Amino acid sequence: MKRRNFLITPPAVALAGTAALPGLAQAAPAVITPQSRILPREGSKPRIVICGGGWGGLTAARYLRELIPNSDVVLLERNASFWSGPMSNKWLVDVVNTDFLNHDMLRPANTYGYKLLQTEVTGFERDRKLVRTAHGLVEYDYLILSGGIRNDYEAWFGNDQRAIDHTRMHFPSAYIPNAEMFALKRKVKEFKGGTLVMTLPPPPHRCPPSPYERACLIAWHIKKNKIPGKILILDPKPRVAPISMGYQLAFQELYPDIITHVPNARVQEVDPFNKRIKTAAGEFKFDDAILMPPHQAADMVWHAGLIGKDASGKPTGWADMHPRLFQANGDDSVYFVGDLMGPISDQFGHYPKSGHVANYVGRIVARNIAERVAGKPVIARLPDNLCYMMVNAEPQEEISVKFEYEVDPTGKVIQTQIDMDVRNEDMVKEDFAWARQKFQDFLAI
Ligand SMILES: Cc1cc2nc3c(=O)[nH]c(=O)nc-3n(C[C@H](O)[C@H](O)[C@H](O)COP(=O)(O)OP(=O)(O)OC[C@H]3O[C@@H](n4cnc5c(N)ncnc54)[C@H](O)[C@@H]3O)c2cc1C
Repeated sequence: MKRRNFLITPPAVALAGTAALPGLAQAAPAVITPQSRILPREGSKPRIVICGGGWGGLTAARYLRELIPNSDVVLLERNASFWSGPMSNKWLVDVVNTDFLNHDMLRPANTYGYKLLQTEVTGFERDRKLVRTAHGLVEYDYLILSGGIRNDYEAWFGNDQRAIDHTRMHFPSAYIPNAEMFALKRKVKEFKGGTLVMTLPPPPHRCPPSPYERACLIAWHIKKNKIPGKILILDPKPRVAPISMGYQLAFQELYPDIITHVPNARVQEVDPFNKRIKTAAGEFKFDDAILMPPHQAADMVWHAGLIGKDASGKPTGWADMHPRLFQANGDDSVYFVGDLMGPISDQFGHYPKSGHVANYVGRIVARNIAERVAGKPVIARLPDNLCYMMVNAEPQEEISVKFEYEVDPTGKVIQTQIDMDVRNEDMVKEDFAWARQKFQDFLAI
């Protein structure tokens, strides 16, 4: 059967908020193909389509409905349920259980009154303001891209698909919420000893302090269970960052015989079959590994033709956008939210690719669109960032980093970084309060 003629039976389309969509069954054509227009418009209400229902997209959906009550908001998400990156390192070693991370997405859709369609976004026809999905074409007035990141294995392996597949299958990065998270948890539980290598992606990458948190918590598991194992962190950066001192103290004081941090270890060659890796800091052999390739903006930004280019014309890998309005350069109906965003300032580069920033920018973009719909001037707003990192699970102790932003007299965004290096138990309480407040904000729990 040709994919174009594929007949979709109604249960294949998971749709929330049908009460707000009178007569969808009658309005929809008998045979739905990827060329059919789905999700009929609600009269003349402005239609805002959000691609990607993670930290950023779910937040934008909620606030758009609140700020523009007369709006038709559609969220397109490929996964059946929400899975949080934040707190997932703690889940690897059972500090929190699966229910803490994994949540129903119909609840916020019904609570806040937007439509949720479980589907894959496959492309865009921006000249006709259409999103292409696995289920058909969706019209928009405003479009928000919030698809997170993709792994750039090609940077290591070129077009060697066998090496890419072997690496994904055996040494998953587990930095994108999907089955890899479960594979990594199993890997940690079944680790019998030897050298576990962790490659860190070069900046910018998703949640800069979190790979070190992962190393600490796996080291805690190794120590607790007296496993004869070591963790080798191959870091492309010249030093641990952020929270440099806090992490170095944790490595030295809590895990001196387990964690070795290797700076300036930018990956040059990976041989996943023979478990060898060549870096700028030397060659290493491993027994097991968590191989994190470089990160880039999610596929949807590439499909939209909205990836930035550097001075030499090479793709930057991240969205081409206005740094203070979050709009696509050259297409003001498209906005970016979350990790896929492009550079902000030549002082610090990108905003930290964190759930905190995605949530904050989700709210800012909703407000900016509300101002445009109301015909008001759009105000440029800045986020902040806050990340708590657990370095010890018994007793539970954390360190943290805060980033603040302001605009200097020349109009440039300036970053101030505040590291909290002294690990303590109070920060654990703050972290859990932070996570619960965020989940309440965009998951309605
Ligand atoms: C181990 C780990 C620990 C972390 N710790 C923290 C922390 O302590 N604090 C913090 O603030 N941040 C933390 N983060 C980072 C945080 O998870 C991300 O920054 C955040 O999820 C970014 O939000 P987003 O909306 O941009 O992307 P995501 O939350 O990844 O959402 C993107 C969504 O888009 C969907 N999508 C992508 N492509 C398509 C498509 N073609 N069609 C349909 N749907 C699509 C995806 O399924 C996904 O649901 C951590 C991340 C990890 C992995």
